[in-house]
Amino acid sequence: MTTAPAIRLTSLTKSFGSVHAVDGVHLDVAPGEFFSMLGPSGSGKTTVLRLIAGFETPTSGTIELFGEDVTSKAPFDRDVNTVFQDYALFPHMSVLENVAYGLRVRGMGKQERRERAAAALETVRLAGLGDRKPSQLSGGQRQRVALARATVVEPKVLLLDEPLGALDLKLREQMQVELKEIQRDLGITFIFVTHDQEEALTLSDRIAVFSEGRIVQLGTPREIYERPSNSFVADFVGTSNVFTGEMARTVVGTVGDFSIRPERMRVTAGSKPGTNAATGTVVETIYVGGSTRVVVDLDAGQRVNVLMSNDAGGDVDKLRGTAVTLSWAAADVVTLASENTTTR
Ligand code: ADP
Ligand code: MG
Repeated sequence: MTTAPAIRLTSLTKSFGSVHAVDGVHLDVAPGEFFSMLGPSGSGKTTVLRLIAGFETPTSGTIELFGEDVTSKAPFDRDVNTVFQDYALFPHMSVLENVAYGLRVRGMGKQERRERAAAALETVRLAGLGDRKPSQLSGGQRQRVALARATVVEPKVLLLDEPLGALDLKLREQMQVELKEIQRDLGITFIFVTHDQEEALTLSDRIAVFSEGRIVQLGTPREIYERPSNSFVADFVGTSNVFTGEMARTVVGTVGDFSIRPERMRVTAGSKPGTNAATGTVVETIYVGGSTRVVVDLDAGQRVNVLMSNDAGGDVDKLRGTAVTLSWAAADVVTLASENTTTR
């Protein structure tokens, strides 16, 4: 490797008493990457972030930033900054003073820090709002102030712990786009923590999927979504139809664990058994805007979900209660590993 990774975690472990919050994590994040840690609540994401920031000391393992071992360094000796979910703005300070705070602590003169803070407010599209108090801003605007405050000191790595979690859906989607643009403009490494799979898929260059303190899959959004390596990932990231054991032999025709995404299955009327196909009965059709979710009880005994695009035409609702055949391309059958293992 020619350049050192922005972050390298080696055998990183953190236990709280008998709780193994982080359990042997190996990870390299490249400079400039938008990297997400995705997993359910309690899977160890925040603890990994706090270890990188230096707010927690690992039970074992090491943390390197740009090739330097920082495992035993204090938070302020690490070139990272954190954006918290609750923003943690100072209510008595103006927006500009909030953003300039980190520069003041570093001893920068008044004129220069005002200029730098104003420029940072411009990058987050808040130019002109510097004189307001945080209470005079919307949730989305407060979020952006927190972002400006964290980036104004020009950290090499920005850690973001569910920063959009407090926003409503519309605002969150808008902020997702802006976050991505800001990250591109600044060119710094983002480590973004979320439990929202769609958010991770939308924003990230790569994603680490966490479960019980471990990384169970590491890959690009496309790899994670289209090639989930085990049934946990297949279930957690989007919905999947997972076939195991005897069911796999009957439906897929092979022994093993397999998954087929709902949008990769086609529904046709009537019962026509064949290869890469299964027969069943439609129990429910659910209109979801651009598509319809069709719930089918297979004759083999398992319930599956199929997602049909609504621009295909035809009245899907008519299918309820009727016999249908589901079919798929052999290439859309994803083989799942039964072991939850991963490598750097
Ligand atoms: P996530 O951010 O993925 O929701 P966390 O990293 O916050 O997960 O927590 C991982 C596990 O570690 C959880 O079981 C949590 O209860 C536990 N944990 C986190 N911090 C502490 C702490 N300070 N003391 C005891 N247990 C903790
Ligand atoms: Mg958390």
